[in-house]
Amino acid sequence: MKKITIAANWKMYLDESGSIDFIEKLNAESDLFSNRDIILFPSHACIRSVKNHLKSDIKIGMQDCDMHEQGAYTGSTSIKAIDVASCIVGHSERRAIYKENNDIISEKLQRTLSSDIEPILCVGETLEQKNNQLTETVLDDQLSILSNKLSGKQLTIAYEPVWAIGSGDVPSNEYISEMLSYIKSRLKSLYSGADLDNIKLFYGGSVDASNINELLNVELIDGFLIGSASANFEKFRDIVKQIKL
Ligand code: PEP
Repeated sequence: MKKITIAANWKMYLDESGSIDFIEKLNAESDLFSNRDIILFPSHACIRSVKNHLKSDIKIGMQDCDMHEQGAYTGSTSIKAIDVASCIVGHSERRAIYKENNDIISEKLQRTLSSDIEPILCVGETLEQKNNQLTETVLDDQLSILSNKLSGKQLTIAYEPVWAIGSGDVPSNEYISEMLSYIKSRLKSLYSGADLDNIKLFYGGSVDASNINELLNVELIDGFLIGSASANFEKFRDIVKQIKL
């Protein structure tokens, strides 16, 4: 049985004391969390405190990074600034609020890969795009930054329909399967038929303890990128409990 990854994107929900409180609760129930594939994505400023308090080998990632490695980029954080295992790239909030386009996202992806840090590239359509039958066109465009030059690199694609993020509106398993199959077929052609063994597929969008069990029936899902429910320890624990070891 494959090991399902749980990626917890805390966004900007937890400050330093909230992050430490979460980790202390997690340490107190370490048996539940050990031997699992979990990555926590705290705010950049809280990563060091989280690492210092964490008493297990849970991985830590960055929610985003700058497209540059170093220099005059006030307020931004380089992928080299913090020792992490993974980095989220192209999250829909970055695309919509910070106007990140494919050029920027591609630079961030390259920056992450060249630092040997595993990127999670987020893709997905808005409700308007879905209603206008543009989902495949949008996915084609967002995936076009990948190419066979990346084959062999460890990479995750998180399919996150924008309309499902934070809305409580979760697509059916059939819809998710269809989209993940489409993404897989696009990857096959972008990678010129090369092996896709190093690429994982995640689903993200309103995942919580009430729906994860059903979502686990989607065979193509290797993991979940979870936002708001992951920043509340009790909700997060109730999700993790349902992942069989
Ligand atoms: C996300 O922002 O990546 C996400 C999946 O959020 P939520 O779980 O809150 O929908």
